[in-house]
Amino acid sequence: MPVISKIQIKNASITKTNLFKLLDLISQEKFLIAPAEGPDLEDINFLPVTGAEQICFDYENTLVPPKEYFFGQSECMFSFSPRSNESITVTDQSEELVFFGVRPCDVKAIELLDKFYERSFVDDYYLSKRACSVIISVACSQLNEECFCTSVGSGPVLTEGFDIQLIDAGNDFAVQVGSEKGLQLYEQYQDFFGAPIDVDAEKEFEKAKASEPGFDLQRVYDRLKSNKVDDRLWADIARRCQSCGLCLLLCPTCSCYTVIDRVTPNGRNLRMREWDCCYFEGFTRMAGGQNPVKPKEEMIKRKYYHKLVQQIDEFGMSGCTGCGRCNTVCVGNVNWLENIRKIEGSGRDV
Ligand code: SF4
Ligand code: SF4
Repeated sequence: MPVISKIQIKNASITKTNLFKLLDLISQEKFLIAPAEGPDLEDINFLPVTGAEQICFDYENTLVPPKEYFFGQSECMFSFSPRSNESITVTDQSEELVFFGVRPCDVKAIELLDKFYERSFVDDYYLSKRACSVIISVACSQLNEECFCTSVGSGPVLTEGFDIQLIDAGNDFAVQVGSEKGLQLYEQYQDFFGAPIDVDAEKEFEKAKASEPGFDLQRVYDRLKSNKVDDRLWADIARRCQSCGLCLLLCPTCSCYTVIDRVTPNGRNLRMREWDCCYFEGFTRMAGGQNPVKPKEEMIKRKYYHKLVQQIDEFGMSGCTGCGRCNTVCVGNVNWLENIRKIEGSGRDV
């Protein structure tokens, strides 16, 4: 069963005061995850909050995408005893989560991960967590410096695919309910909401698109697919890239992981999965040391092709949602957007 059951969009509104009260109540009654400043880090990230005063309302986006709650950086799949198959214990994955403040690009990224984990091999570890989560997303009022969501159709306002979407309308938020799970949450807290505010999401999207330099995704797709991109581009990126992996580990749509076994100090054996990255040298290395994809350029080219061709073919949506995180964190001065514009033919030559 799909993790999102879309419904015809229901419109409402909520005052900013009521939103604060609502989130406060949800944080006491449920497990609320929202943008907040961690105790040791200045970055804003999605963290469990126990009161609305802990939520950061004035933020662009989080450093770590919300995918970590469905697909953990390091998660135990099951514990086992090497001497007996019967002692396998599968980790319980079903805690009810309410998310507040997820940006439209990250909602689209979760939609892509849903499609990925729902295809031929159904991944229960991911899907069980998604099934019991509901997301209140907040549309962006302005495009941030590193973002290019309008070029890939993932923001700054969504037209579908959300549970509940809030759109800033001054003193109030326009509220759009777009799924069964969103409707259940809306009905549970109906007293907080008011009369519909009319917002034309399509129009807001088109307005934002006109103001973003961006690129033509179709042209990028065509040029990559027909192999029209000069190989010097991949060589240039490979020269700068330090293989730190940050751009992929923090990408909200990247889903690669590796599986390892750990033994805890008290003797429990854990089978873990942990985020992995195709820019790491060992990613394609096989037992015996053979590596079928040696040159770094090949992996780099493959990343662009995977996100901007293959995932469009497979899932009908771009594998890049334009969140801009990869540009922000790169230690090698590799600019993903600038490179896409070079692929398109609108950027400077390599
Ligand atoms: S490739 Fe970069 S801009 Fe695109 S979704 Fe991933 S982190 Fe965001
Ligand atoms: S963040 Fe930059 S340097 Fe690090 S792997 Fe990605 S492209 Fe390479």
